[in-house]
Amino acid sequence: MISKEDYLCSICLGIFIDPCRLKCQHVFCQSCLLDLIDFHNIKYKCPMCRVEFINKENPLIIDLELQAFVQNNFPNQYQQRVEEQKIIRSLLPNELKIEVNYGNYYKFEDDEDDGLQHQWTVHVSLDYTKQSDKIALNNLDLNSLIKNVTFTLDETFFPDVITVRQPPFLLTRWGWDVFTIPIKIKFKKEHKIQPIELEHHLVFEDDGIEKRQIVKIDISNLSQFQVLKQNSQQQLQQQQ
Ligand SMILES: [Zn+2]
Ligand SMILES: [Zn+2]
Repeated sequence: MISKEDYLCSICLGIFIDPCRLKCQHVFCQSCLLDLIDFHNIKYKCPMCRVEFINKENPLIIDLELQAFVQNNFPNQYQQRVEEQKIIRSLLPNELKIEVNYGNYYKFEDDEDDGLQHQWTVHVSLDYTKQSDKIALNNLDLNSLIKNVTFTLDETFFPDVITVRQPPFLLTRWGWDVFTIPIKIKFKKEHKIQPIELEHHLVFEDDGIEKRQIVKIDISNLSQFQVLKQNSQQQLQQQQ
C-alpha cells in the first residue's frame, strides 16, 4: 500500500515538492535543500545521514518520476504545496542565490611548428538555483544582466587582459601550460549588482573541467523584480 508517510520531506514535513535525491538516496524538496545547505562551502552534508558531498555533485536535479508519482497519488496535498510555493514566490527576497558555472574545455593537439599543444576554452555563465525564482522572474536570462566578463591571463599572453562583452562569455587560446585565471563578472549599471569575482585554475585533462559556485546577488533594482513586488502588493490589497 502507498503510504503518505513515505513521501514526506524530513525538513519541512510536507509532501515532496520538486523532490531532489542525494547520492545517499535521501530525498528532500529542492527549496528545503537550498535553504538548509550552505553551498558556499566546497563540501556539504546530507541533512539526514550527514554523508558528505562535494559541491560539484549537483543535488538540485528534480526527480521528475517521483514528482509525478506524488502528484498522482496525493493530488490534494500536492496542490496545497503548489499554493504554498506561490506565496513563497511572491515573497522573493531582494537577494537571489544564483549558480555561477565556470571551467574550461580542453583539447590536445600536436602542432609541430610552434610546439603549442594545448587548446583550452575558459567559460562562465549564470543560472538559477531555484526553478521558482526563474518562474517568478518570468524566465529572465540571468546572463543578459551581464555587462562584460574579464579574463586575466598569464603575462606571457598578449594581450593578457581580455574583456568579453556579450554572451557566450568564453575565450579560447593555445598554450604550453596551466595557470590560474582571475575572472570578473560585471553587471549592467542600471541593475546595481555587485561584480562577481572568481578564479579558475586551468585543467589539461580529459575534456577539461566544470565547476559551480553559488553566490548571492542583490536584485532589488531589477525592473522584473519591482514589477513582481508591485503585483503581489496589489493582490494583497485586493484580498483585504
Ligand atoms: Zn521539504
Ligand atoms: Zn543522506
